[in-house]
Amino acid sequence: PVGMTGTTQDISERKQAEEQIRFLAYYDGLTKLPNRTWSMEKLSVALAAARHQGSTLAVLFLDLDRFQRINDTMGHSIGDRLLQAVAERLKRCLRSSDGIARGDPLGTSDTVARLGGDEFIMSISDITRGEDAAKVARRILDIFKEPFRIDEREIFVSGTIGISLFPHDGDDAETLLKNADAAMYHAKDAGRGSFQFFSASMNAAAVKRMSLETALRKALEREEFLLHFQPQIDVASGEVFGCEALVRWKNPELGLVSPGEFIPLAEDTGLILPLGEWVLRAACAQNRAWQDAGFPPLRLSVNISGRQFKQDLIVQAVEKAIAASGLDPRWLELEITESILMRSAKETIETLARLKTMGLQISVDDFGTGYSSLSYLSRFPIDTLKIDQSFVRNMAKEPGDAAITSAIIAMARTLNLSVIAEGVETEEQRAILRQQGCTQMQGYLFSRPVPAADFGKMLAERALRGPAAPPAAQTPPADAAPAA
Ligand code: C2E
Ligand code: MG
Ligand code: MG
Repeated sequence: PVGMTGTTQDISERKQAEEQIRFLAYYDGLTKLPNRTWSMEKLSVALAAARHQGSTLAVLFLDLDRFQRINDTMGHSIGDRLLQAVAERLKRCLRSSDGIARGDPLGTSDTVARLGGDEFIMSISDITRGEDAAKVARRILDIFKEPFRIDEREIFVSGTIGISLFPHDGDDAETLLKNADAAMYHAKDAGRGSFQFFSASMNAAAVKRMSLETALRKALEREEFLLHFQPQIDVASGEVFGCEALVRWKNPELGLVSPGEFIPLAEDTGLILPLGEWVLRAACAQNRAWQDAGFPPLRLSVNISGRQFKQDLIVQAVEKAIAASGLDPRWLELEITESILMRSAKETIETLARLKTMGLQISVDDFGTGYSSLSYLSRFPIDTLKIDQSFVRNMAKEPGDAAITSAIIAMARTLNLSVIAEGVETEEQRAILRQQGCTQMQGYLFSRPVPAADFGKMLAERALRGPAAPPAAQTPPADAAPAA
């Protein structure tokens, strides 16, 4: 070849123009958030996915309160910058929490868009209950707690949110948006700076939760918590060797609220920290009191929730409870969950090691329901596995469940751990467990959790009968067969 010809053309400008057109079509120029067109398209796509997966999706409609007045009194340019600042906080609020919490680090499934004026719309996919949408709404309302700083000025503004849920309140994007809007108007009537669901039943549930939360916040100072104790029995000797402290909440209006209901709420709100400290203190004091009354020492188990189990927090709480009660730490056992073990292994091992050095016992509660890797288990300084009651419940009918308890018992033996079965209700269950080589048990067959005074009476009666006298009617097998 002696030469080559060609043409080149710089198309950057055209590309830029295309970008610009796309931007104008899909974004809001002021806040750089997606606009109504795009958010409705995205919502339709998200709805199709939710329909396919059978999951729930929430649409949150946010309207700023009295925004017009800010525009009128401070001028439109301040108003514009306030909207930008609100958009910024909204973006951060959704990104930082939801997407990441649900394994969607880019927050692609949740969007925030500006509909126009002072109205924003958020769609939250993949929630399990309406309650989750309420949580997000509460967090969004929290962004208005701090004033917005614009030109040295501090501006306070609040927002009101309406929520509609797919599939409950509508099947398509338009309907959901319309219903979220209607709910927002209801919320404005009920009081600005709040949120409402479109459906009455969801509102009732949210109101119930709110009142439960308010009552829970006051429960500690009003001394509405108390502990019940459930004995742990060694069926080989018939001896009560320990007990589990289980917290109860008695509220004058709500009556007795079950821990299944208020513990998750206490975890959500952070109240679990002061509550957990109280439980530790009260339980240690009670255990010491029984010893002082002359009963043989018992190992006392206290449940520790995931949020409580942070290195310094838990160590300090235990130290305080030990110091205040004068209880020898070896009579204290902490029940942790498998999920704690699976968190950051290194930190958990360190924390557990510190607690062990103090002389405490550690057990893993509800064992078998999580996903503990077996190779992990041997690395943690733990003492006891508590077989979850769900396996015990059906073990007489379900060979699969009996196989699981048998496997846990055998594994505990191999790893040199103790094993205790929870939720033992029948003679049949006791016999099978015994047969499988488990002698430590806890459950209604022996006693329900009872108030401290009743537990003390029970100890006194046992002391009168003499130690280690298994009830005559229940002759256990001479020798429990070792599990396979
Ligand atoms: P958990 O630690 O697994 O406690 C055992 C639960 O089983 C208790 O329910 C107990 O009353 C119940 N139970 C015991 N024996 C039987 C039985 O034979 N049959 C049946 N069906 N149930 C039996 P409870 O007291 O309602 O406590 C529920 C959960 O609440 C506990 O489960 C524990 O995870 C949590 N919890 C209780 N107290 C505390 C606490 O002080 N702190 C924390 N973080 N969690 C607590
Ligand atoms: Mg427990
Ligand atoms: Mg349990």
